[in-house]
Amino acid sequence: MHFRPTRAEINRDALSHNAKVARQLAGKSHLLGVIKADGYGHGVLTVAEAISAHVDAFAVAFIDEAITIRNAGFQHPIVLLEGCFSEAELPVCAHYNFQPVVHQQQQLDAILTARMVRPLSVWLKVDTGMHRLGWPKGQVQSVYNQLKASAQVGSVTMMSHFANAENQTHPLNNHQLALFEEVCAQTESKLDTSLATSAALVSSAIDMTQNNGHWIRTGILIYGDNPVGNPKPLPEPLIAAMRLVAPIIALREVKAGESVGYGGTWTAGRPSLIATVAIGYADGYPRHARNGTPVMINDQEAPLAGTVSMDMITVDVTDLNAVAIGDDVELWGPNLSVARVAEHAETISYDLLTSITARVPRVTT
Ligand SMILES: *Cc1c(COP(=O)(O)O)cnc(C)c1O
Repeated sequence: MHFRPTRAEINRDALSHNAKVARQLAGKSHLLGVIKADGYGHGVLTVAEAISAHVDAFAVAFIDEAITIRNAGFQHPIVLLEGCFSEAELPVCAHYNFQPVVHQQQQLDAILTARMVRPLSVWLKVDTGMHRLGWPKGQVQSVYNQLKASAQVGSVTMMSHFANAENQTHPLNNHQLALFEEVCAQTESKLDTSLATSAALVSSAIDMTQNNGHWIRTGILIYGDNPVGNPKPLPEPLIAAMRLVAPIIALREVKAGESVGYGGTWTAGRPSLIATVAIGYADGYPRHARNGTPVMINDQEAPLAGTVSMDMITVDVTDLNAVAIGDDVELWGPNLSVARVAEHAETISYDLLTSITARVPRVTT
């Protein structure tokens, strides 16, 4: 029971619709639904349920996230994108069909010396230029051969990660792709691979969907945001799965020359009507959202006026008609894209979606 109306409405139908769009785009490829970080803030079990029919497997960052999903009864394979932190996780992986990424020597050693109840499926990560996780080109073949020769290991999927996929014309994309294909060609001809993420799936420059046995790892598309500027035509538009809403709790007139909020960063240039809205940075609304960041009130856009507080924001509603205390304000959602708000806060949609805090109830619609 919550008295405060501030909430994140999560639209199940939008999640499954977007997953279906991703499925269509993926062509012959397999689809991995990325549901780490509590399903990008939407509630991991809500997301898992909504997309389970449209994806071949799930991916999360680490084992605790996978256990939550398995305990809720989902049977899909679950990839652990950071792999294991210690060998104590390996029997759990084998038992639950969690498929760890192997990206460094300690992880490899732990697998090769473990005694597992059944062989593990693993994902061998190649560093093709992101320089965050993975084996350099020169070591990949030896790691692959050691994994394949081990009784502890069942299948090995080769993977890598683009550093600039959202920028379709970035020269590193083709360089990474070529390096990945070169390394894969050295190992075996019929290899499962995984390189594309959401950005590559909607990019008109990179197409991985014709590769047999390719696994596309898609996150942000499922939540309704398109990460590239000039995507290829989609079979159907994506729908924002989260609508972040808060009520107007006060309205006041300020005179020209008066300022609003902490630090007085916004000053009225004319007699103005200011709405105070019950959401702030303690709810995950970005404190760095600048003056002018849009919000939606009764189908009209209005600009943020004044610094974001812990529990409240202030909005210039002078030009709106029919604004009242209690009216819903949409901070982002189907009528105002989270990507647009992110631009005004000098960040990305992923950051905003995963920053909504626990005190904001997720209301599934
Ligand atoms: C989070 C993550 C993804 C998902 O990326 P999207 O841009 O949301 O599709 C894919 N691969 C890895 C390794 C990730 O960490």
